[in-house]
Amino acid sequence: MNRITHWIDGKPWGGVAERNGKVYDPATGQVASQVDFATEADVDQAVAAASAAWRTWRHASLAARSNVLFGFRELLNQRKADLAAIVTAEHGKVLSDAAGEVQRALESVEYACGIPQLLKGDFSENASTRVDVYSLRQPLGVVGIISPFNFPAMVPLWFAPNAIACGNAVVLKPSEKDPSAANFLAELWAEAGLPAGVFNVVHGDKVAVDRILDHPQVKAVSFVGSTPIARYVYGRGTGNGKRVQALGGAKNHMVVLPDADLDLAADAAVSAGFGSAGERCMAISVVVAVDPTGDELVSRVRSRIASLHVGDGRRPGCEMGPLVTAAHRDRVVSYLDTGVAEGATLAVDGRGHDVDGDEAGFWLGPTLFDHVTPDMSVYTDEIFGPVLSVVRVPTYDAAIELVNANPYGNGTAIFTNDGGAARRFQHEIEVGMVGVNVPIPVPVAYYSFGGWKDSLFGDSHAYGPDGVHFFTRAKVVTSRWLDPSHGGVNLGFPQNT
Ligand code: NAD
Repeated sequence: MNRITHWIDGKPWGGVAERNGKVYDPATGQVASQVDFATEADVDQAVAAASAAWRTWRHASLAARSNVLFGFRELLNQRKADLAAIVTAEHGKVLSDAAGEVQRALESVEYACGIPQLLKGDFSENASTRVDVYSLRQPLGVVGIISPFNFPAMVPLWFAPNAIACGNAVVLKPSEKDPSAANFLAELWAEAGLPAGVFNVVHGDKVAVDRILDHPQVKAVSFVGSTPIARYVYGRGTGNGKRVQALGGAKNHMVVLPDADLDLAADAAVSAGFGSAGERCMAISVVVAVDPTGDELVSRVRSRIASLHVGDGRRPGCEMGPLVTAAHRDRVVSYLDTGVAEGATLAVDGRGHDVDGDEAGFWLGPTLFDHVTPDMSVYTDEIFGPVLSVVRVPTYDAAIELVNANPYGNGTAIFTNDGGAARRFQHEIEVGMVGVNVPIPVPVAYYSFGGWKDSLFGDSHAYGPDGVHFFTRAKVVTSRWLDPSHGGVNLGFPQNT
């Protein structure tokens, strides 16, 4: 069976694996490979390699670092179809969607190519007489990246390019459910000329994560995953004195006002609700239909769902693939009965949807609940599957109140033709990323990505300017080059003169 090993110090890290896990092809239900699970000693090995590499890499010139980044960008661009195929084979999302993921990842790499510009400091000449003051941003050292299953290529590349460009060394712990993309990236970094040890991969589970969080030489951790684990990672990592940004789960609402173009809104709800089988942290899981849009909107969403082509993401024409594992599919399916028991109307039951794929795949078709209320678990829980809930509210104010009362605050969208209503929404809504007639408002690479409330623990958002800030620490230098004449001893507090 195909074995996926760690990648440490510029090469695959073999030897006997004491622990391992199975990786499935979700579209066939078959075991595709076996992945090594790191012990604490494996993580220590990776951190030691990163630490040793960092001692040299931190001194690499900005020109040398950006050359590596440009090389990596070229290779990734050439091989993007290969990476997308790897993502589809282990995650299950359809090929076109995987290609979109890789494209967004490329944009993060391109941002980091501009590192000489991004690391420019400030300079104040003659802040005091013959005294200059200037600021530097310097790397932290070894940084950990812990990523979720749902974007196995993009999420590691939200962080690694900035971390490396800023002069750090990386230990990446990808999801054990779809680990191959991480090794593919490691090979590309090596091919791009990144010195051995600057980018390492350890696979595994909580054992690896905990060791990264406890290791004294790991200075910062970027985590993306579910809210309970994000909260835990943030607490344990910061408790150990590390800088941590931990991005968590979501429940993203799309508010539809009566003046909206309902065809546009229905298209958006279906695309953002069922793309990647709802396994996106920016997926829309709740449509908030402001009276009297409910009946008409539900009818248009239902008719679009009927024609969705669900199947093996490698087959032509498939728009939605399987869920990532059988256990996850079963958990998502359990919400269909729970929702009905709690009083929601099952407007479309995804269990009845035709599937263009192997029977043993981890399938669930698109599902629509109507008349959902905020006390139901289909509303309160992050289901992370192809289940869209419609909550009907009487007024625009009630819609804003509903969104703001939710503990998550990752993404949200409003559909309207009223500029004033949209402007009030962006001003009052307590969510980190807002779309106006845009259902999945993932910021471009030169802004930063991050939610509010239980969707992010820490002060920095991911990638963009916040990413550069997170992976560097500031130093301010106050410098005086003496004129041959100077003032002699002065025990007073330094003052600007
Ligand atoms: P997860 O929390 O189960 O796993 C994330 C990472 O943590 C994985 O590498 C996993 O191995 C590790 N992990 C799992 N359990 C752990 C434990 N008990 N102790 C230590 N480490 C542990 O998340 P997932 O299922 O892989 O991904 C889906 C979740 O990620 C969803 O909640 C989704 O909303 C969220 N997500 C958020 C964003 C965002 O930007 N906010 C982006 C993508 C995904």
